[in-house]
Amino acid sequence: MNKNLHDRAEKLIAQERIEGISQTERDWLAAHLGECPVCAQVAQQTTAALRALRGLPVLLPRGLAERTQFRVQLRAQEMREREPRRRLLWIMCVMSWALGIAAAPYVWRAFEWAGEHLGMPRLVWEMGFGLWWTIPALIAAAVVLMENLRLAHENDRPD
Ligand SMILES: [Zn+2]
Repeated sequence: MNKNLHDRAEKLIAQERIEGISQTERDWLAAHLGECPVCAQVAQQTTAALRALRGLPVLLPRGLAERTQFRVQLRAQEMREREPRRRLLWIMCVMSWALGIAAAPYVWRAFEWAGEHLGMPRLVWEMGFGLWWTIPALIAAAVVLMENLRLAHENDRPD
């Protein structure tokens, strides 16, 4: 079959749904769709796509492209705003780790001193030293968890 016929059919399929076509064109299109499964499928897909789009709370076709673009930009901006905070969290983690290692001997001595002065068994102040180490990790874990919960909450919200 002539390619021009399919092109014409495709054009009419779109035109029919947007601005309408004449009776002659409608008859021609119906006849072509009857004998051309490819174009019939295009017509079907167009109908299905428009039906799906009509379910969205947007005016079609005007505004759709702008709205989609706007949402993508908004999302990109959101990600950009979130990025530095996450980087800061990583820097804080690394710094607290490094400080923890640097301070470990002093902290150990402080716990040892306190343990001896308070008459605590060695195991108790050693455990205290161990717990001291987990504090920054616990704080970082709590921050990450809260951030994730907030994100999950945001994503649940219909927009
Ligand atoms: Zn065709």
